[in-house]
Amino acid sequence: MSGFTLPLRADLVGVRSYGAPQLRGPILLNVNENPFPLPNDVARAMADAVGGLAAGLHRYPERDAVDLRADLARYLERESEVVVDPSRVWAANGSNEVMHHLFLAFGGPGRTAITFDPTYSMYPEYARDTFTRFISFPRRDDFSVDVNQAIAAIEDVRPSMVVLASPNNPTGTALPLDDLSAIAEACMHTGAMTIVDEAYAEFRRAGVPSALALLDHQPNLVVTRTMSKAFGLAGARVGYAVAADPAVVQACQVVRLPYHLSAVTQAVARVALAHAPALQAQVALIRDERDRLAQWLAGEGFDVAASDANFIMFGRFADRHQTWQRLLDEGVLIRETGPQGWLRVSIGTPEENDRFRAALLAATAA
Ligand SMILES: *Cc1c(COP(=O)(O)O)cnc(C)c1O
Repeated sequence: MSGFTLPLRADLVGVRSYGAPQLRGPILLNVNENPFPLPNDVARAMADAVGGLAAGLHRYPERDAVDLRADLARYLERESEVVVDPSRVWAANGSNEVMHHLFLAFGGPGRTAITFDPTYSMYPEYARDTFTRFISFPRRDDFSVDVNQAIAAIEDVRPSMVVLASPNNPTGTALPLDDLSAIAEACMHTGAMTIVDEAYAEFRRAGVPSALALLDHQPNLVVTRTMSKAFGLAGARVGYAVAADPAVVQACQVVRLPYHLSAVTQAVARVALAHAPALQAQVALIRDERDRLAQWLAGEGFDVAASDANFIMFGRFADRHQTWQRLLDEGVLIRETGPQGWLRVSIGTPEENDRFRAALLAATAA
């Protein structure tokens, strides 16, 4: 390649692509997937649905995923007892793409998005891609958000977007509804969107509400969800958002790429939603396993961040990379993420969690 310098954007030179290591072989407790494969009858129904539409793939898909969005609205009504009109629901290839649409529509040059660290490592990347200035403020030591500090930051920085993950990744922390409401209210005064990323909502502990409950009171609120975690559908790439204002959905329709959601994806997602109880049958078990593992970790003397998600952040290690590597040597892949000294483990099947416990004891034996 004869001395040609790619005219890459200056801010992308030397930047590596995001992603956890994808390895075959070890027990995979690293990217918060649902560890249970889809039940046979659901997998067969998906295959039938895709078979039925395959001959029609010479046509572009239904552009606005109208039927899927109606199914999602019905699902939310059952899951969180909120009534949402499909005109307020948006769907895309994973909630990552939904969030990208939101940054395209509400971020941009000269605008600022803020969040509270430690949190999901993709937020700065959406900001970079959309030329949005990005500022992180620290969370408290218990990984909650100091609401007064947040409100002061919002009034000071005047962002166009405030992004809050709840339950948060990688810490597992759910934010109280009152805190979210106070932050959304401050955003109302300064003209900012409040975006609550609820990728892990279905794993929240009893009594922990969803931000969906605030939608009727906060016209600037958007709640994003995904089928990648509790639904066990990470491979299909389906995420969605519910907005207080249908104009948010219309804005996403402006910035999305044409026919962004394939006919195959829409059909598979609709089958999954029709079988939601079967697909989520293990969610209660995963929650129980999480609480049991958190107790065990604490009993073994580790620091454990309280979790409302399907993973646990624990520590602290003088050399966390060494512990991560030793766990991998023991056949268990977890995630080296979060603040220095901490590691994150996804909740697996009961057998996988046993293997993790044994591996961790071996990895940390003196
Ligand atoms: C896993 C995760 C998502 C989901 O991403 P998809 O694109 O829907 O697979 C979104 N937000 C957070 C914080 C996550 O951890």
